[in-house]
Amino acid sequence: MPKPVAPEAAFRAALLAADAALALALLGLFRKATDDISGALDDLQRQAEEAARTGAWTAGWLYAGERLPRLLAGVQARLAAFAEAAGPVIADAAHARLRLAETHARFYLTEGRGPAPPNALTTFNRLHPVAFQKLTVSLAPGTPLRGMLDALPEDAGARVRAALLQNNALGNGPAQVARQIAPVLGGTLSRALTIARTTSMTAYREASLEIYRANADVAQAWCWTCDPGPNTCILCLMMDGTVHPLDEEFASHPRCRCSPRPVTATWAEDRLLLGFDMSDFDVPDVVVKPAQTGGEWFLSQSEDVQKSILGPAKFAAWKAGEIALASLVGEADDPKWGRVRFENNLATAKGKK
Ligand SMILES: [Zn+2]
Repeated sequence: MPKPVAPEAAFRAALLAADAALALALLGLFRKATDDISGALDDLQRQAEEAARTGAWTAGWLYAGERLPRLLAGVQARLAAFAEAAGPVIADAAHARLRLAETHARFYLTEGRGPAPPNALTTFNRLHPVAFQKLTVSLAPGTPLRGMLDALPEDAGARVRAALLQNNALGNGPAQVARQIAPVLGGTLSRALTIARTTSMTAYREASLEIYRANADVAQAWCWTCDPGPNTCILCLMMDGTVHPLDEEFASHPRCRCSPRPVTATWAEDRLLLGFDMSDFDVPDVVVKPAQTGGEWFLSQSEDVQKSILGPAKFAAWKAGEIALASLVGEADDPKWGRVRFENNLATAKGKK
């Protein structure tokens, strides 16, 4: 069988580069917000030192007057401004992924199928503008992206407030307050990056599937494709290479980088559809499944890599024959997100054995 000619590595690199550019853009916006917050904390520190010098310092100094409510309101306002600025950046990135999906799908459904027999008809149906429009990510009130972004400053505000209450009881100064705010800010950035990657990859996958459906004469199904590596989760490694009907949605986990690849009809099947019997001709077959699935890749790795992917407890249970790798794939219907997949915990995986 001939090797697949699809430049999958180049497609993956394009997705990774887009992902990195998006993360960098968000990081820049986030720095602006956190610079302002650290500036406010530095001011507070200077005032506390001044109070100590003039003898005005007491254990409750930080909590007297409007000092902390003002700081809290400032943190929330800066993060709200960040979320506001991040919205269009994420929506634009998602839009760019739709175009990328079309380019990649076009390849898979045309020359990616291998050399065509003479006089073969190749057609590619682009996505209808209305279908394309439906896939664009909206920031309007009530949309998932809007909701997730709006929740960022609210959630951070609640966490900072909790940290401050704890400080109040301890009588800590601004330096300790700053130390407690830092992880809250780090958590907010991490959530923003998760939202960005999940939103843009979802746009890419949905567009890919819509294009496969629009070319259902060539695309017969879709195949889960991951990029096996030490940072790939076992869920995605086990899903890699699995074949799904065209009408099935791609159900994965947040931050997932996997994508659907079309399972294409061979040229021989194509000709049969057109009424020609090609059995006498040597028509190339297109390799549908990856040469090595993610699960096979995992089995070929060193124990160190396997342990770092599974974590020590699951690795030990797998080695002891207490769990099967496939039992780590969890599926559920979520009221908000529809079908989702996740990695099962050890107890659930043991129950499935
Ligand atoms: Zn994945």
